[in-house]
Amino acid sequence: MNIEKLPSCDDPFDSLLPVEEARARMAAALQVVTQTQELSLLDSIGRVLSVDVVSPVNVPAHANSAMDGYAIAAASIPGDGTRDLQIIGTAWAGKVFNGNLEAGQAVRIFTGAIMPSGADTVVIQEHVSATDQLVTIDRDVEPGRNVRLAGEDVQCDQIILTKGTQINAAEVGVLASLGINKVNVYRTLRVAFFTTGDELQALDEYADAQKDAQNDEHTVPELEPGMLFDSNRYSLHAMLRRLDIDVIDIGIVRDNADDTRAAMQKAASSADVIVTSGGVSAGDADFVTQVFHELGNVSFWKLAMRPGRPLAFGQIGDAFFFGLPGNPVAVMVTFLQFVQPAIKQMMGLVSTDPYTINAICLSTLRKSAGRVEYQRGVLANDEQGNLTVSSTGKQGAGRISSMSAANCLIVIRADKSGVSPGDIVEVQPFMGLFG
Ligand code: AMP
Ligand code: MG
Repeated sequence: MNIEKLPSCDDPFDSLLPVEEARARMAAALQVVTQTQELSLLDSIGRVLSVDVVSPVNVPAHANSAMDGYAIAAASIPGDGTRDLQIIGTAWAGKVFNGNLEAGQAVRIFTGAIMPSGADTVVIQEHVSATDQLVTIDRDVEPGRNVRLAGEDVQCDQIILTKGTQINAAEVGVLASLGINKVNVYRTLRVAFFTTGDELQALDEYADAQKDAQNDEHTVPELEPGMLFDSNRYSLHAMLRRLDIDVIDIGIVRDNADDTRAAMQKAASSADVIVTSGGVSAGDADFVTQVFHELGNVSFWKLAMRPGRPLAFGQIGDAFFFGLPGNPVAVMVTFLQFVQPAIKQMMGLVSTDPYTINAICLSTLRKSAGRVEYQRGVLANDEQGNLTVSSTGKQGAGRISSMSAANCLIVIRADKSGVSPGDIVEVQPFMGLFG
């Protein structure tokens, strides 16, 4: 897709782009990394399969016992259910009983042991009385009971994991269970990011200045008037690092064309994706727009969402560019709605969008209609086990603490004008069980 043709800053000023439309345009423009590599199983954790994985074996490989007990042929037990069977040996996990079991015989068997030839059923030890030689079974026996069949979990030649699956704890376990210790995955995506603003105070420089002042027995320096700590670089770094990608921190870029151009060029030459914060509002100095247009195809969108109305998207060289707004909550929300799904798509993942669940809202939530809102919420279970969500309180886009007080985003659709207690709302939880 040609990004130049994507509607952009040329759109009428008052037309807001719906979030779904922006997501769809991005998804159509983005490309999955093409290079793949073969990795050892442990090195592949967090990576994305570039091919389907076909099972070379049955799991379990052989029929085996699911319980400790006695392996028998169910047909040995007559209709009235009582019979003494002769114990002819023992089968252990890892130690096969090699004989053949006849009618009227039993083999002492332990969990995981291969079923002896001739046996089809295991009667658990709690249900019998036994001596060394004889086991007395006095109940109905269900044929096949307590036996795990060969291939019952995974069958030989079955596609067990599909291309585009991320290798997490469950997948690495499945692959190990098949004896597979080399896998084909997409190469790691490289993502460069920087923050923009003359008002930003770098934390490391501030710490150095404090140390110097203490050494000179001067008072600890205050943050200069008008300056603020560059928190976006830290929240962006944290969100990027969770994605199993290479993260390249370009630093703070001041509000001038030369620095912006240099940072952009450096980022574009070293990364597949560039993420920035700040400098994308309509009122921002022209040089940002000018430099982005000069270097590539970048569209400035006004999104029908809150927080995070302005967003720039495009291509600079071969790298895809996401210019996020500057407000700390807006940065996190737009990252989670757009950049994270985009990165996942480029990593080769098939499933990319944040998942949503429904919860009963306990708070009154105000909003104006016409744009989707992502409000900060706290998910919990009530005494009946229902999933509930309540607001963290004031929702300003600069209140970064509202993100740490929250464990989810409450998504209030564009057509809604507010939420009353008891209403069902859509929620995006921050955490799943696996990464
Ligand atoms: P901008 O979009 O560049 O006008 O930024 C909007 C507002 O976001 C600024 O006025 C700052 O208060 C805040 N902001 C911008 N960049 C950062 C940052 N890196 N860390 C924390 N706050 C920021
Ligand atoms: Mg700025």
